[in-house]
Amino acid sequence: MNPILLSVVLGLTAASANVFGGFIIVQKHWERAYLRYFVALGSGFMLATTIMEMIPESVRIAAGRTPLYVLIGYLLVHFFEHTVSPHFHFGEETHSDEFIHSHKSYSILGGLLIHTFFDGIAIASAFLVSNWLGWIVFLAVFLHKVPEGFTVASVMLASGSSRKAAFGASAMLGVATVAGVLTMSLFEKWVSVGLPISAGVTLYVAASDLIPEVNKEPGVGMAFVVFAGVALLFVLDKFFRSF
Ligand SMILES: [Zn+2]
Ligand SMILES: [Zn+2]
Repeated sequence: MNPILLSVVLGLTAASANVFGGFIIVQKHWERAYLRYFVALGSGFMLATTIMEMIPESVRIAAGRTPLYVLIGYLLVHFFEHTVSPHFHFGEETHSDEFIHSHKSYSILGGLLIHTFFDGIAIASAFLVSNWLGWIVFLAVFLHKVPEGFTVASVMLASGSSRKAAFGASAMLGVATVAGVLTMSLFEKWVSVGLPISAGVTLYVAASDLIPEVNKEPGVGMAFVVFAGVALLFVLDKFFRSF
């Protein structure tokens, strides 16, 4: 399949996982404990994918500019998720007292829209490099998409928004993801900028959004799931790299 078409299809798949995450939160009685495993597995897989695959490929196409672009991508998410929004963490938002002013939830939505836009940039720029890179970056993005939609919907509910608005916010993250894919598809020759910046974004999401959530879990079980996520990349590398 044409790499652009494939990245659009997979971008839509990732977007629907955002919507599904939002759906879980607006359906009060749905079991959600298993989402912690997605966060832990996703963090290890994203971390390994960034360091072992995205950064080396970036060096190949962007050479000496790679470190600066990775740093820019990393700091971009830090700025929009944690500087503009004073209270943000991945997972269910239960601190309603932090959200007496509903505009706070909109600054979080804004930060997540920037991050999810780069999820889309990551998928499309990876497919422009190779099928292998495209598939593993898609998987890295997909693994944190359900918790991402879940997070934004719970933030909206904590700030007093309606269930409809909460669900709408998770759908907006899906739209931003697809917008990222389409933007990269339109500016294919910018792949040497898009890949390293989205590598920095992915590194941030893995190491600074997801792993802190894993560390909040009691016991070592969840911490070990991170290593399983890392191992998953090495297993896929061994069996599927050539295609
Ligand atoms: Zn909170
Ligand atoms: Zn994301």
